[in-house]
Amino acid sequence: MNQPKQVTADTIEKTLSVEEEANLEKAKEAVDRFHQALMDSKLTGMYKMELHLHEDRSRTRPYGGLLVFTTSGTKLDGEGDEKVYICPDDKCESPLPPASRLFGGRLVCPNCEMVWDEKRVTGEIYFKLPERKWAQVLEKWFLKLSGNADVLVKQHKAQLRDKTFQELAKPSEGVLVNSARNVRGPLVYPLKHIIKDTANGSSLQDRFLAFLRA
Ligand SMILES: [Zn+2]
Repeated sequence: MNQPKQVTADTIEKTLSVEEEANLEKAKEAVDRFHQALMDSKLTGMYKMELHLHEDRSRTRPYGGLLVFTTSGTKLDGEGDEKVYICPDDKCESPLPPASRLFGGRLVCPNCEMVWDEKRVTGEIYFKLPERKWAQVLEKWFLKLSGNADVLVKQHKAQLRDKTFQELAKPSEGVLVNSARNVRGPLVYPLKHIIKDTANGSSLQDRFLAFLRA
């Protein structure tokens, strides 16, 4: 019985005609031009995802951190940013941008359409995780923000303990103490770099892990 011929990347390579090769080259050049235009552009995400960590975090042990979401103002120092809450329904967890705000301190989820009292929603999530898991968490929430976010790491000086982060993550606390005096950084992974770095097929999670380890 005749086996169908196996087509591998190798056989494709060998059977490209001169014309096809020229086309492939043109396509590669177009991608390069696109990436250059992307790097030259002022593209920023619609959102900012900030990860607040201790500056003395361990490479090998789980560490605590607080994930915070905002809309993206024009400046990286946070001026003009508005808080983005998260739908408390654990099957939904969609971002609740400023436009989801109703009268009377309520917010409507654009995804599940549930209406929430603002006292019940939070835009700060606390985790204590090993580094690889942190990369997974960044990937998950980056995708929840429609892949439309710049990612920042703000490193707090050591006196901010896990307890402080947990306190800040309570819905009733609302606002994160974000004094520049206590923060080193931020380290920024701009959206346009995320797009470029994942264009060749490398996984978002691996890129976030490399960012955390940088
Ligand atoms: Zn929802």
